[in-house]
Amino acid sequence: MLSLIAEESETDSEESDVSGSDGDDTSWISWFCNLRGNEFFCEVDDDYIQDDFNLCGLSSQVPYYGYALDLILDVESSHGDMFTEDQNELVESAAEMLYGLIHVRYILTSKGMSAMLEKYKNYDFGRCPRAFCCGQHCLPVGQSDIPRSSTVKVYCPKCEDIYYPRSKYQGNIDGAYFGTTFPHLFLMTYGHLMPQKPAQNYIPRVFGFKIHKP
Ligand SMILES: [Zn+2]
Repeated sequence: MLSLIAEESETDSEESDVSGSDGDDTSWISWFCNLRGNEFFCEVDDDYIQDDFNLCGLSSQVPYYGYALDLILDVESSHGDMFTEDQNELVESAAEMLYGLIHVRYILTSKGMSAMLEKYKNYDFGRCPRAFCCGQHCLPVGQSDIPRSSTVKVYCPKCEDIYYPRSKYQGNIDGAYFGTTFPHLFLMTYGHLMPQKPAQNYIPRVFGFKIHKP
């Protein structure tokens, strides 16, 4: 009877673990993409990450590369127990960077782009704040392809301008994890999503009169 109760409470705690960070059935990738502020990331296919060709050049850019890769792919690392807490934190942040650098490549592939299409349709990237864009869906964009140059912005295809994301958590994400090319290649690929240019422009008025510019 006692053992039964123990089993039941174990099941309960598993079910209530919504964050899934330690749950066995949640992959690192799902966990990472569901973190607050990480809504712009799509889930990269394991197959894509397991193909060395796709990761070409990344080992020199990311510290603790091998450990970071194992973490992303949920491979039990044989060295994990040897690391101190500080080292584990370094591996964790290396994994985030590695995932970002894989992500920026993946979203330019047809599979990655269709994953981003689902997110676009779902308004995951937010809407343009400009009133005359009438709630146009936005896309994430980087101002640079070099990591740690600038944070991610959102691009509005209607007014063709970029804005800060609405959430401050999203605003801390590196723009290089989305890159300068993504929204434009996305709109070339899915041409039917290209919106019409805005029909109206805002005109400042004082007592109803247009302001004459010198
Ligand atoms: Zn706009």
